[in-house]
Amino acid sequence: MTETPTEVRGDSGPATAQLVASRVLDVPDFPKPGIVFKDLMPLFADGAVFREVIDGIVEHHGRESFDVVVGIEARGFVVAAAIAYATGVGVVPVRKAGKLPRAAYAASYALEYGEATLEVHQDAFTAGHRVLVVDDVLATGGTAQATLDLVERAGGTVAGFSVLLELGFLNGRARLDPRPVHALLTV
Ligand code: AMP
Repeated sequence: MTETPTEVRGDSGPATAQLVASRVLDVPDFPKPGIVFKDLMPLFADGAVFREVIDGIVEHHGRESFDVVVGIEARGFVVAAAIAYATGVGVVPVRKAGKLPRAAYAASYALEYGEATLEVHQDAFTAGHRVLVVDDVLATGGTAQATLDLVERAGGTVAGFSVLLELGFLNGRARLDPRPVHALLTV
């Protein structure tokens, strides 16, 4: 019996989606039973693929479309820092509660596994700055929604939101509507 190739899709086309798919490991029952953790460490560890993925995100939005990039703790930091370096913009971290040293806005939300609070420094953005927000995985969309709200509360304008991988069945994209979501791979 021949195996039918699994369909790979994403907002930057099948080739990029396939590239991401080739560097993701599924870890069943992590961090708790029933969750399949999407481990993107193999993608981060492959210099050529990582660069191609970063270039794909920049290309999708256009270098001139954002003034600063936000990364969501912790794996979003890896993506954000690379985009910032590649494009010459600065990076702003959105952190888990209690990590930022100065006055911060906070937003609490429910995760696919648990609850969390995210924070951003109140003076993180120049008013009207266009902010590209990035993370590794979009699951239920709670993390992204909280982050996009924080960006706006802190005076930024959301210019775009990208993830390497989206869990389509959790419908995080609908939760963020009408804000557009750019996912390199949707599973
Ligand atoms: P959510 O708020 O449900 O969209 O969850 C997204 C955040 O949790 C991202 O920062 C992801 O890094 C992490 N996350 C949630 N579910 C998974 C998963 N199945 N595999 C890897 N990371 C996940």
